[in-house]
Amino acid sequence: KEKHRDGYPPLYDAFERFYLRYVYRRLKDLTNRPICSVPGANVTLLDRVTHDHGWTFEFTGTKTECLNLGSYNYLGFASGEGPCAEDAARIIGSNGLALCGSRREYGTTPLHMELERLTAEFLGTEDAIAFGMGFATNALNLPSLLSPGCLVVSDEKNHASIILGLKISGATTKVFKHNDMHDLERILRNAVVSGQPKTGAPWKKILIVVEGIYSMEGSIVRLPEVVALKKKYKTYIYLDEAHSVGAMGPNGRGIVDYFGMNPKDVDILMGTFTKSFGSSGGYLAGSKSLINFLRANSHAHCYASTMSPPTVQQIITSMKIVMGLDGTNEGSWRVAQLSRNTKYFRRRLAQMGVITYGHEDSPVIPMLVYLFSKIATVSRTLKDYRIAGVGVGFPATPILQGRIRFCISAAHTKEQLDFALKALEEISESLGLKYSRRPRDMN
Ligand code: PMP
Repeated sequence: KEKHRDGYPPLYDAFERFYLRYVYRRLKDLTNRPICSVPGANVTLLDRVTHDHGWTFEFTGTKTECLNLGSYNYLGFASGEGPCAEDAARIIGSNGLALCGSRREYGTTPLHMELERLTAEFLGTEDAIAFGMGFATNALNLPSLLSPGCLVVSDEKNHASIILGLKISGATTKVFKHNDMHDLERILRNAVVSGQPKTGAPWKKILIVVEGIYSMEGSIVRLPEVVALKKKYKTYIYLDEAHSVGAMGPNGRGIVDYFGMNPKDVDILMGTFTKSFGSSGGYLAGSKSLINFLRANSHAHCYASTMSPPTVQQIITSMKIVMGLDGTNEGSWRVAQLSRNTKYFRRRLAQMGVITYGHEDSPVIPMLVYLFSKIATVSRTLKDYRIAGVGVGFPATPILQGRIRFCISAAHTKEQLDFALKALEEISESLGLKYSRRPRDMN
């Protein structure tokens, strides 16, 4: 039990202190190294000596260039050169780096308006609104759309930004088992039949919240079934496409495109510009009335700093390439290359006998190492082979499902993927990662 010191109550609770003291001390190799390069197909890591259980560090002066399987650079647009970087640099000259205000306070340029128009055109919606941060897009806009008396039915693997937004909103949240349509329907049926607890009054509205690709599982949402349930129970859908926009679908337009569905079937399309577009920020897209409502009511729009002009330009240039508006077929090549690389890497890992989670078309590939203690060992060994992956463990995953997550990019060459696969073959052999079971498909 925590003691009061000098009359002060403890600043952190026992649970947080446990993590700080015991867990992270043992897993200091889990905290990924700082980098000093573009997060492209390769990335340069800085070596460091750590103190305070890994929380503070000093650089040793040594740098290691690694194959980058850790960044969400799906289409390879994170690059210090090429049209995106050139256009962004030009915009620094005319608009500077920051506009020093919110969208309403001199924070809107024609570029911001072009980005929103282009995003809506790309996704096939009536309108779109862009925000300075992907995380805040969820955390600050869900509360604008929900209030006490609303019911949210949320996938158990939804991202922390969604969970925070739902908490702030004051709505009632019921969680359904990951991608389990029977569980989703059970909750919806009960909600419609029984209404709100105690009063039995109907819920003000019901919102189903799902993601396109789940970032820790690599699984993809069963969108056609979710849409069928939405129609059956007259609910709304909020779809987070942070990892799927740009990365999924024949035209890179996300999971709606992947399933060949009508974007109008999803009431609120959310996504980020931080992954496939190599920039920063997030968006919400949908009907004109929804977006106008957000322009008037969103805290992220009215009170938070606007997007930096060069980041806006980076998105415009990369999105136009994906849409083929640059007059070349480079965009469709990148989308197809990501899909080829993904399928190849997943197939070879399966043949190797390691266990991966997720859908065969998902470029997010978690490789199971199970034991918590193995996460740091595998991360360290990978670094010795000059490969950067991301170790993920509890509380982001169940305690006995530690994993190394790889993100595939269109920027990776076959030689680079083969290099990683050869290293993984040796590592999985020596560290006992071959569980000789067929890979489990979370879908
Ligand atoms: N939603 C999901 C599903 C995410 O995985 C993330 C972050 N990876 C976010 C939202 C937050 O986006 P950002 O990193 O662009 O702030």
